[in-house]
Parts: sequence; C-alpha cells; structure tokens
Amino acid sequence: MGTFDPNFDPEITLWPEDDPSETGLGEHTSFPENTQIPLKPGSVVTGPRLLAVLCSAGHINRVEAQFCAQCGGPLQDEPCWVPRPVLGELVFPGEYRVPVQIDLVIGRDPRAVEDSRPAPALVKVHSPNNEVSRSHCRIQVDNWQVRVVDLGTKNGSLLVKSGLKPTALVAFTPVLLHDGDQLILGDGVSCYYKEVL
Ligand SMILES: [Zn+2]
Repeated sequence: MGTFDPNFDPEITLWPEDDPSETGLGEHTSFPENTQIPLKPGSVVTGPRLLAVLCSAGHINRVEAQFCAQCGGPLQDEPCWVPRPVLGELVFPGEYRVPVQIDLVIGRDPRAVEDSRPAPALVKVHSPNNEVSRSHCRIQVDNWQVRVVDLGTKNGSLLVKSGLKPTALVAFTPVLLHDGDQLILGDGVSCYYKEVL
C-alpha cells in the first residue's frame, strides 16, 4: 500500500464525463467489477480482453499462476481470453477509488487525445492553481499491465515507488505501475495504485 496524507482533501471531482459503456463503441465496453466470464467457443468479444487461466469457479488468474489467487483451487491447463476485469484502483485522498479497467485520462479538464488507443474514461481533479494540466496523465491498460504516461505536462508528474525517491516521469514515456505506487500530479493531487488482481 502506498502512503498519502489521508487528511488532505483536494476536493476531487471525480468522475468520467463519459460512461464508456454508453459510448456505443463496443470496443470500450466496461464490465462490472470482477466479472468472471469464461468464454464459450465461438463467442464474439467486443470489449478489451486478456489472456487468463481460470479455476473451476471461473476466477480469473494470471497465466503464470499456479493456484487460484482467490480460492486457492487448481487452475485449468489452457489459458483463454476473457473480458478484462478491473485490474486495480487509483485511490485518491478521501478514499475516492477509480477502477482501472480501461484507459483513464486524469487532469483538471481531461480530454481524450486522438490516437490509436481505445477511448479512455476521463477523471477530473480539482486544481485551483492550475498546477495540474488539463490532460495530465494517462493510465494505459494492456493485457494485465497498467502503465502511467505523463502527457507532456508543464509541471510534470512524480512517481513514488515504495522505498524509493520520487522520480519525474518523462513525457510520453509509459512506466509500469505496481501495487502501492504513488502518483503526484501537483496542487496536492495524488493517488496510489492498488492492485486488485
Ligand atoms: Zn478460484
């Protein structure tokens, strides 16, 4: 778990302006938390997927897992593609939790940048001194991996890994996020990444 000052309240106005499940773009379908849906042969999946091994209860596990992380049961031999579940959460002061399942753009007035990635959910944060850029950083989700990218911000973004000094993110250079990593965006806005699966 990362550390942040739980007493600090930067008046975060969180939430995605667009519910990705309502964009009409099948590719951006959002699944309920911890969806566990093994796919039947021939199923057509339109949302993001990842390769997983399942236990007999259908829990989603990383391919390299030996036993189910949730129930301890044995795992199927063959990996299969499943709808991507919530992989983690961004935890903001005040216990505001943003599920990480699709890409996110965090900023004081976030916009989806036109590129080849699926449309992100938008997370708006309060930044009275404008230290946080309009679109400050992007959380990228690929397969099981979650990365953070600074979107060329004026004031930069700091990443604090457990036991290490804060490091400034290099603009447009994705960095892998691990459980407990803390992101500091400016104006007292920070969050930490909590791995769920
Ligand atoms: Zn299980």
